[in-house]
Amino acid sequence: MLNCNFCMIVDGKLPSERVYEDDDFIAVKDIHPKAPVHVLIIPKKHYDSINDVGEHIGDVDLMGKMIIVAKRLAKKEGISASGYRMTINNGEDAGQEVDHIHMHLLGGEPLRVGF
Ligand code: 5GP
Ligand code: ZN
Repeated sequence: MLNCNFCMIVDGKLPSERVYEDDDFIAVKDIHPKAPVHVLIIPKKHYDSINDVGEHIGDVDLMGKMIIVAKRLAKKEGISASGYRMTINNGEDAGQEVDHIHMHLLGGEPLRVGF
């Protein structure tokens, strides 16, 4: 999608530190990390937010796979055993800044409990 920074990162038109790629997702290091491990799992297909995800099997599979990619990356980053958080901010009250679905993978130290 035009004017979407994460679409541009997917297309390689904006630089990023890419740590993973498959047919459906890329994962990049967050530019402002909030924990020692802070990776963003980004679907290649543009969706503004979870509100845009359909209930047909294609979208359901894709969202399920996003968790599996996060699990795989947690292992790669060495935080499987110590623990990690997966977050999807959705909409204004959740503080969503980038209107292209992404899952945050956070870990590498005890994370603050709360919202
Ligand atoms: P949100 O608040 O939308 O859930 O999270 C957006 C996240 O994307 C923030 O943690 C922010 O630091 C990160 N971010 C924003 N723009 C870029 C960018 O151009 N590249 C990378 N790697 N991360 C970004
Ligand atoms: Zn996009």
